[in-house]
Amino acid sequence: MTVVADKIVVSIDYTLKDDSGSILDQSPEGEPLRYLHGAHNIIPGLENALVGKAQGESVAVVVEPEDGYGPVEEDFVQEVDKSIFEGVEEVNVGMAFEAMGPEGQSQRVMVTKVDGDKITVDGNHPLAGARLHFDVTITELRDATPEELDHGHVH
Ligand code: ZN
Repeated sequence: MTVVADKIVVSIDYTLKDDSGSILDQSPEGEPLRYLHGAHNIIPGLENALVGKAQGESVAVVVEPEDGYGPVEEDFVQEVDKSIFEGVEEVNVGMAFEAMGPEGQSQRVMVTKVDGDKITVDGNHPLAGARLHFDVTITELRDATPEELDHGHVH
């Protein structure tokens, strides 16, 4: 019998809730999330909890921030000058921008405060610091194709 393991393509229906029980995210009806197990396609806390599960099994998983989207990093909150937002007429709280991270990678930042020309941006993931509650049902398991294994994702 196939169970969740490395090199398996896993399809899951899931609901993600926060500590208060509010739904943060959910796979659409009839459209399960498919991912390649062992390829770091999903957060480690969830990936690890699904190992060995069979098709049709349901599991409730609580993921702490360190196994999810990480703790809130104060270093990711920065005050910058409005002049760096070239071509943006008005910068408002809640706007998101792609910024260059410390290692040259693209990083999404959110404007959290505007004080004249001083703009505070936060590069933390919106779910950083959050404990995540997943209700997961495994809907399908199959072997990954050689091409999928080569690419590290599902086709
Ligand atoms: Zn590919």
